[in-house]
Amino acid sequence: MIVNISENHNSHSMISGVLATPELRADRWISVLYLARKWEKTKEESIKEQILSVLKNLEEIELYFSYPGSVCFNRLNDYLKEDDSKGFLRLSQRISTTIISKKFHRDVSVWDVENYEDDPFNRLPQAISHVKAKPYFEVLSVVPHARSRWQHIKEETRGVRRPEDEFIYETVVIGNAADALKGILLNSDIGSVVLYEGFEKGSNGKDSFLEVFKEVIDFSSLDEGDFLSLRLAQAIKKIRPELDIFLLSDQSIEYFSGKPESRIFNRIFYQMEEPLEIHLSILEAIHVRYRTPFFDNLKRYAERPIATFHALPIARGKSVFTSNWISDMGEFYGPNLFLAESSATTGGLDSLLEPTGNIKDAQEMAAKAFGADRAFFVTNGTSTSNKMVLQALLVPGDIVILDRNCHKSHHYGCVLSGAQPYYVEAFPLVEYSMYGGVPLKTIKQSLLKLKSQGELDRVKMVDLTNCTFDGHVYDTRRVMEECLAIKPDLIFLWDEAWFGFAHWSPLLRQRTAMGAASAISEALTRPETLAAWEEQQKTLGENPSDDMLLETRLVPDPRRVNVRVYQTNSIHKSMSALRQGSIVLVKDVKFEHVESQFHEAIFTHASTSPNLQIIASLDVARRQMQLEGYGLVANAMRISLEIRKQINNHPVISKYFKVLSNSEMIPEVFRKSGLSEYNDKNISWSKAVEAIKNDEFIIDPSRMTLSCGHAGFDGTTFKNILADKFNIQLNKTSRNSVLLQSNINNNRSDIALLIGVLNDISIDIENKFQKNGNEYKNNFQSSVDELIYNLPDLPNFSRFDDRYRDDPESHTLHGDIRSAFYDAYDESGCEYILLNSSEIEKRLESGPTLVSANFVIPYPPGFPIMVPGQVITEEIITFMRKLDVKEIHGFNKDLGLKLLKKKIAE
Ligand SMILES: *Cc1c(COP(=O)(O)O)cnc(C)c1O
Repeated sequence: MIVNISENHNSHSMISGVLATPELRADRWISVLYLARKWEKTKEESIKEQILSVLKNLEEIELYFSYPGSVCFNRLNDYLKEDDSKGFLRLSQRISTTIISKKFHRDVSVWDVENYEDDPFNRLPQAISHVKAKPYFEVLSVVPHARSRWQHIKEETRGVRRPEDEFIYETVVIGNAADALKGILLNSDIGSVVLYEGFEKGSNGKDSFLEVFKEVIDFSSLDEGDFLSLRLAQAIKKIRPELDIFLLSDQSIEYFSGKPESRIFNRIFYQMEEPLEIHLSILEAIHVRYRTPFFDNLKRYAERPIATFHALPIARGKSVFTSNWISDMGEFYGPNLFLAESSATTGGLDSLLEPTGNIKDAQEMAAKAFGADRAFFVTNGTSTSNKMVLQALLVPGDIVILDRNCHKSHHYGCVLSGAQPYYVEAFPLVEYSMYGGVPLKTIKQSLLKLKSQGELDRVKMVDLTNCTFDGHVYDTRRVMEECLAIKPDLIFLWDEAWFGFAHWSPLLRQRTAMGAASAISEALTRPETLAAWEEQQKTLGENPSDDMLLETRLVPDPRRVNVRVYQTNSIHKSMSALRQGSIVLVKDVKFEHVESQFHEAIFTHASTSPNLQIIASLDVARRQMQLEGYGLVANAMRISLEIRKQINNHPVISKYFKVLSNSEMIPEVFRKSGLSEYNDKNISWSKAVEAIKNDEFIIDPSRMTLSCGHAGFDGTTFKNILADKFNIQLNKTSRNSVLLQSNINNNRSDIALLIGVLNDISIDIENKFQKNGNEYKNNFQSSVDELIYNLPDLPNFSRFDDRYRDDPESHTLHGDIRSAFYDAYDESGCEYILLNSSEIEKRLESGPTLVSANFVIPYPPGFPIMVPGQVITEEIITFMRKLDVKEIHGFNKDLGLKLLKKKIAE
């Protein structure tokens, strides 16, 4: 399936093919173009040979795409035969740019080639009237008919188009189930599938391309017994659950009538159904996803003439456009923003706090789109979503297992709810002054410890960040299953602020909280799961030791487990929502029991004046992902993999910069597959896929840690250079690296821009070496050493002071952070000591204990080095003194450390 062309600058590792499958094809066309240029220049016969073989390779995947179509493709072959290198170059250029820019979605003229016999207007009627192009998609028809009939089927579907159709589509015809799955994987334009019963199974499962995906995406159902259509539909939904599937049957209608399986099909038709009826159903189903209930209503609202007598003078723009002084605001934003502003919850605008109408609808659609049971829109960021979930589910005194390196909203959530954090440590990456994720063993250890202390019943929640800021992705399913084996009623909160897009990657989806929760729920219903548990009980015996439990991959007792999973996403961080657009996704079998608390938490945290534009953008972001998320996410992956490759293999840039590989970001023990680098050309597909499936941690491919220490820059300086001089904005910085993120908005030119800039900077460094001689070089080297080697050890969480522990004797790790937080409100109970004063040494040695009064959070690295009530140790002082960052929240250099004084005995 993978082209191997020598000298091909675009050949890729296998993993690139797996993660960015729809981009495979664009890459191949780029290879054609590259060779076409070379052929045109040199006229060498050997290059022509290469082109011939690439075209042959391409032909086998062009089957799955409408554009450019066989006529156009044959024309290319003709140019080759006729030795017309100019014509070949012209046409291949046109095709490849059209494919990459997706211009064929919008512009009919590109479907036309010189000498193209077809009447172009026949193909995409939208261009006739120069109106705004209709949204375009493709329909995959899987048919039993002979190949000679396929063209006829395509034409027939074109024939039923009507001018008033809301969308426009082309048909891709395929002859068997295996090819259908390939089409689904490769062609991201496919929006619906029509199965004509009687098609073949195809390739008997020996297709190596599909074999690889089979390892992760379980479509083994294809091999099971009868009803191939049903089995194929099930497999398709595992890859792209959002797709609509129609069945044209002449026999199984009776079989399906009333059976729950038939719900997988949008509709079942008799084979002889009118083509128009099918056409309308296809469009209607797309419309269901296209619909944005809140946004649609908001647009209607904005169009109505309304006199407002409510608060919000800015509504309708009246206070703006007529003003002497602020009318520029109106010009800048345009009238629609103001027409769409309202403080009313009537007139079809619904209420975010008590939704009963279109917001409720929009939330239900989002839940379905993200694979959740429930969804709640939040207009104050995931900072608020997290606090809401913690407050809703925890009461004072509950224990929550919490990654200390998490976003501050979780720590504050504990303060608000009165829950006691039991901090667990992520593995440190000392060389880069950052943290990874929390090893599963650490999490299990903490649960077992709490069990041995008789406190397991107080542990209500495990709260982790997936992926972390730097891109560490958990094996969410395994973490939850093993924790549930120790305590079957645990609730999980997964902060997936960055990772919301992952639902639209068939490989990453299983590592999202919702993806794993679905898989666990499904597994619980299978008899094998109980058998596995019973088997494990036998092996473990009556009283297994902690060591045994830590070494075993624990399976939970399916009869006792409750799946209770919460996921929060900053939709604005990875999808097309306005800033602060966030969502809480819920899969909780006990939700009814916490529903009223959950609403209290919404009332506590949500503004009574939620921003309507943010709500609308959440609605629209969902629409986009449901209709084009699969392709957009694959593109983001492809771009990131390309950036990694270009930087790390560049002769000059790679001397100073490097995108850290998996092996640098994840210790070996957490990479059982041995995957060390996404662009490793020697890695097999199956190994890549195994890594994504089974490794304890993987790196989110779209997040790239770019080490810049060897170029003599600390992260912050480098970030500022890129922003000020080159207009490149980055995500975050750490001591000797910056974080780049590829997104659904990036395109291939962004790669070129970034590489160009890094090249300039690298050459500039080399020029300075030449001009300035040895002394400069030595100075440069010592500043590099300072950045790379002189790094402070990251201190672990020490402990809460005894007065904040329920039982000081038992040395429990969790503590009453809330009391400590409020003790600091009493000024007379606090004291300050300067960081560099020798008083600190005295106190460390002979007391009284130094107890932090507040959170101290340096940026970078951005985790709380102290929390209220925490005992300050020598390691923490050393770290603070070495820290040379400017931004430290909660610490004032001139005042010093704020401490809680020992209370005079009460
Ligand atoms: C950004 C972020 C948040 C906060 O989200 P906002 O939408 O900015 O409020 C929470 N958790 C993590 C891990 C984040 O990266």
